[in-house]
Amino acid sequence: PEKEKAKTAALADQIRAGDRRALARAITLIESTKPGHAEESEALLEALLPDSGNSVRIGITGVPGVGKSTFIECFGLQLVEAGHKVAVLAVDPSSKVSGGSILGDKTRMEELSRHPGAFIRPSPTGGTLGGVARRTREAMLVCEAAGFDVILVETVGVGQSETAVSEMVDIFLLMLLPGGGDELQGIKKGIVELADAVIVNKADGDLAAAAERAAAEYHAALGLLRAANPDWRPPVLRCSALTGAGVAEVWETVQAHRRVMEASGARAARRAAQAGAWMWSEIRDGLLRRFKAHPRVAGELDSLEAEVRAGRTTPTAAARRLIGLFQGE
Ligand code: GDP
Repeated sequence: PEKEKAKTAALADQIRAGDRRALARAITLIESTKPGHAEESEALLEALLPDSGNSVRIGITGVPGVGKSTFIECFGLQLVEAGHKVAVLAVDPSSKVSGGSILGDKTRMEELSRHPGAFIRPSPTGGTLGGVARRTREAMLVCEAAGFDVILVETVGVGQSETAVSEMVDIFLLMLLPGGGDELQGIKKGIVELADAVIVNKADGDLAAAAERAAAEYHAALGLLRAANPDWRPPVLRCSALTGAGVAEVWETVQAHRRVMEASGARAARRAAQAGAWMWSEIRDGLLRRFKAHPRVAGELDSLEAEVRAGRTTPTAAARRLIGLFQGE
């Protein structure tokens, strides 16, 4: 154990010093399912926690093809050229070991990925959304400890992953096409409500006029929603990730949002609530894992579930019996 402790301390020091290979190794450790690695990564995160938190955490979502990676390349390059250190992470529960995943494609964000001020990491693969989100959160803390002051967390605009991402960031950006109100209807209302800002991308060339109309429609639609925060009305911005027009304004919005949220204490409150919710989700996941692995529970789980499905036992009675077995009654 003393040797392990020294190893963890050394890795933590390398990360604090900004060693990129150490950073990559730490994230690999976080994502590992090998026995013993969970304890090691827990110890590492504990060691790095005091050095984390000093970044602006930005979530970004939008349907495939809206231009997220083109935008992140452009936005990220503007930031690294201004001296920021930018880490790009992703949450995509559908991603597999090779190919097909967002950020899996090597041609994405080519220039940004080569820049010394940037660090790009694809989504952790496999497992539940909860597991993928947890590993991304942990990677975020390690990146912060390594000195990255802007963290971008990308997710595809389908399913539950937007909620998971919005629960780990300071500001959540929803990227839309210049399609107007019709497009909004294709997006779950709950997701629009999560947005701290809406960005209409592809506002260039033939699409410029459509983007202007769409922005006005989105603006009107957002006005009908109850604001999540009384001090912040989610703005609707237009940009072209291709030409770079309007991209600097997105960063200005991120900073304006930060100023407003810090002044009212909402930023600290949001982070505190996120940390608390994260703990509870760890408790839920951990308990469920142990519950399912418990020998007596495992021995009866399938047959009791079958009884419930067949209507011979009530769900409540079956749950009570299983929990009793888990508690050794
Ligand atoms: P993602 O799936 O959301 O990551 O979208 P991509 O960044 O891969 O972009 C999808 C397609 O839209 C690509 O062919 C891009 O070149 C194009 N695209 C991205 N941003 C813009 C933009 O601002 N204007 C125009 N005209 N095309 C864009």
